[in-house]
Amino acid sequence: MLETTHKLIKDIGHKIGLDDEAIENLIAVNQAHVFDIKLNNGKTFKAYRVQHNNKRGPYKGGIRFHPEVNLDEVTALATLMSFKTAAVGLPLGGGKGGVTVNPRKLDDAELEELSRKYVAYLQPHIGPDKDIPAPDVNTDGRVIDWMVDEYEQLTGDTSKASFTGKCIANGGSEGREAATGHGGVIVLRELLKHLGKSDQDITVAVQGFGNVGSFFGTISEKQETHWKLIAASDSGATIHNSEGLSSKKLSAFKKDRGRFKDYTDAEVLSTDAIIDLEVDVLVLAALGNAVTASNMKQVKAKYILELANGPVDDAAYHYLDENDVAVIPDIVANAGGVIVSYLEWLQNKSGEHWSEEKVNAQLQDYLAKATAELYETATIKKVSYKEAAFINAFKKLAD
Ligand code: NAD
Repeated sequence: MLETTHKLIKDIGHKIGLDDEAIENLIAVNQAHVFDIKLNNGKTFKAYRVQHNNKRGPYKGGIRFHPEVNLDEVTALATLMSFKTAAVGLPLGGGKGGVTVNPRKLDDAELEELSRKYVAYLQPHIGPDKDIPAPDVNTDGRVIDWMVDEYEQLTGDTSKASFTGKCIANGGSEGREAATGHGGVIVLRELLKHLGKSDQDITVAVQGFGNVGSFFGTISEKQETHWKLIAASDSGATIHNSEGLSSKKLSAFKKDRGRFKDYTDAEVLSTDAIIDLEVDVLVLAALGNAVTASNMKQVKAKYILELANGPVDDAAYHYLDENDVAVIPDIVANAGGVIVSYLEWLQNKSGEHWSEEKVNAQLQDYLAKATAELYETATIKKVSYKEAAFINAFKKLAD
C-alpha cells in the first residue's frame, strides 16, 4: 500500500512538472512514533502514530485497532490523509495511528486500558493544535471518549478538542455518523450537475451496505434524486431488483442484523455479482482493493464512487480509466467524515454545539467547492478525476 501510494504521488507529481526534491518533500513523513503498549496483565501490543505533514494545520487522522496494522500501512494512510484534507480545502494536515491488536479478543477493561495507554504515551505529541486523532476501523465513540478523558486528566485541557468522533454527549458533532455516506451523495450529485446529467435517471448499486453505504442510500432516497438503487451487497450476498430497492427498508433490515442472503423481496446473487451488474454508478463502500485485475473487466458501470479507502487498486484504475469508466476518487468522495470531524473540532474550540442543519450546510459547501475544483481541473487538464484530485491537493500543499 505504501509503494502504491508513493508511486501515485510520484507519477502525478512528475506529470505536473514537480522536481524530485519537491516530490520527496511531499512524501517524507515528519514523525513516526512506534511504541509498545504493555497491559497490566503483561499482554503487549505494537502501536503507531505517523504524523505525515502539518503544513496546512494540525495533523488529522484516525486510529485503527486491527491485527494487520503495521508501520507501512499507517504511513500510507497518514500520507493519503494529508492529500485528502488538502483536496477538500481543510486547514489540517495528515496523520494516522493504529495498534496491532484484535480488539474482539480483549475484554472491556483491557480495551479501555489499551486506549488510555495509547494516549498516555503520545500525549506530548498530540493535542488540539498539534494532532487531533479520530476513530477508524474498530474504534468508536466509546474508545475515543476514554482517550479524551485520559488526555484531559494528563493535561488539564477540558476543551475536548484533542480528539474528534466523540459521543454527542461528550462534545461530538451532529451529522458525524452519516457524514461519509452523506458526503458521497453530495459529491456524486454535484459532479452530475457539472456534467449536465442531474435530471437524468441514474441506476446505482452499492457494494457494502454498512454505515457508509446505508447512509449513502437513505440520504439519496430522502433527497429525491433521480437515482434508483437496484442492487446492494454485504459480505454474504448481493440483492438485486431492477425495479428498485428501498434504502430505508434495507437499512431497517440491516439494523435488525439481517443478512442479505436471507432477504426475500429481491433476487439474491453472490457477493461478487454486484461488480458486473449493468448500472450507471457503482458505489464501493466495503473494503480496499474491491476492484483489481481479477475482476476489473467485469465492471459495466460508467462511474465508480470510491467511498471505501482505495477500493480500486492501481492496475484496475488504469484499466478502467482507459476504458472510459470514471473513478470518482476516495480522497474527495469519502472526505465527508473528515470534514465533519473538522467541524466538531471547531465547535469544541469555540464551546458551541451546532444543529445538524448547520453542520450539513457546511459539509455541502466544502464538498460542492471541492467537486467543482475536481471537475474544472479534470476538464482543463484533460486528466482523470483521480489525477485532478491529487493535482488540486498538490497545489494546496505546495502553496
Ligand atoms: P461497516 O463495517 O459499517 O460496513 C462495511 C460493509 O461492507 C458491511 O455491510 C459488510 O458486510 C460489507 N462487506 C464486507 N466485505 C464485503 C464484500 N467482500 N463485499 C460486499 N460487502 C462487504 O464499515 P463503514 O464504516 O461503512 O466503512 C466502509 C468503508 O468505508 C471502509 O473501507 C472504511 O475504511 C471506509 N471509510 C469509512 C469512513 C467512515 O466515516 N465510517 C470514512 C472514510 C472511509
